[in-house]
Amino acid sequence: MEGPIQPLFFSLNTGAQIPAVGLGTWQADPGVVADAIIEAVKLGYRHIDCARIYRNEKEIGQALRKLFDDGTVKRDDLFITSKIWCSDLAPEDVPGALQSSLDDLQLDYLDLYLIHWPCRVKRGSSINGENALALDLAATWRAMEGLFDVGKARAIGVSNFSSKKLEDLLTVVRVPPAVNQVECHPTWQQPKLHALCQARKVHLSGYSPLGSPGTGWMKGSVLDDPTVRMVAEKVGKSSAQVALRWGLQFGHSVLPKTTNASRLKENLDVFSWSIPDDLLTRFDNIKQERLLRAEFLVSKNGAFKSVEEFWDGEI
Ligand code: NAP
Repeated sequence: MEGPIQPLFFSLNTGAQIPAVGLGTWQADPGVVADAIIEAVKLGYRHIDCARIYRNEKEIGQALRKLFDDGTVKRDDLFITSKIWCSDLAPEDVPGALQSSLDDLQLDYLDLYLIHWPCRVKRGSSINGENALALDLAATWRAMEGLFDVGKARAIGVSNFSSKKLEDLLTVVRVPPAVNQVECHPTWQQPKLHALCQARKVHLSGYSPLGSPGTGWMKGSVLDDPTVRMVAEKVGKSSAQVALRWGLQFGHSVLPKTTNASRLKENLDVFSWSIPDDLLTRFDNIKQERLLRAEFLVSKNGAFKSVEEFWDGEI
């Protein structure tokens, strides 16, 4: 029988290692997500990307418990990420939010805890442009640092931070963010943010690495991009594998989501081959377009009047 595929890792500024391919769990429905997690870990996935707002942490926790109880893996073998939602970002609410995720995931600690969006809404409020408030970066980050200090989050980081917001954060930190998880794929490569992250030792983790083809309102076509398809044909791999391998060769971890057994396997088969340099340069000419523009956080009456303002011009 074929053994698990050994994943590669990237180093974090904490000294920990983050697996290069993590399993995304957004839109992985309760009912199918538990089986997908079990299958994924058996195939060799060691990083699961969760979030409170995905509303499936309880099922993921049940799957993890089963994997630990039957001896498939130990807790320390896995790298588990979760994210704090915008309505929990008042500093006094931060420890309770982490605890809710830990309780549902049936864990004592997270390997990585991220601020999901650089935007806050009042506790209990729904997220929309009118309710959106700017984050008190220093106070919120101090609360995150408290979770790191007590070991409940072994690394802390951010998500959806522009270069400017990341630089602003870096001026107020005692514990620097280990990760900025952002949209990154061949049709939204983010070279400026990539270079900043590298220079400041913040690992960039790429979400929607396949262009989120199942999300109707995100009009991307990474898998149909002519360059991605041409390279896939030349190297004898699928478009999905080429999109993922491009990310690894660009220097960041990738977080593809699937609950399908054969696609789980396909998406992990990205380590024993590479895209040759002459084909890699062809990615430089791909037309760029952000897919997750965060229009839902924008309103003329809220903190962010436009998507340009929200992303500090990186749009
Ligand atoms: P994605 O991983 O780019 O794409 C997922 C979609 O691609 C699903 O519809 C999946 O369908 C399909 N798919 C998976 N593997 C495939 C393959 N080999 N060939 C063809 N289709 C394939 O999109 P995503 O879910 O937006 O992003 C991935 C993860 O990043 C999320 O799940 C989440 O963990 C994270 N994320 C974070 C943020 C944030 O704000 N921090 C935002 C977005 C996403 P099946 O499931 O049917 O296979």
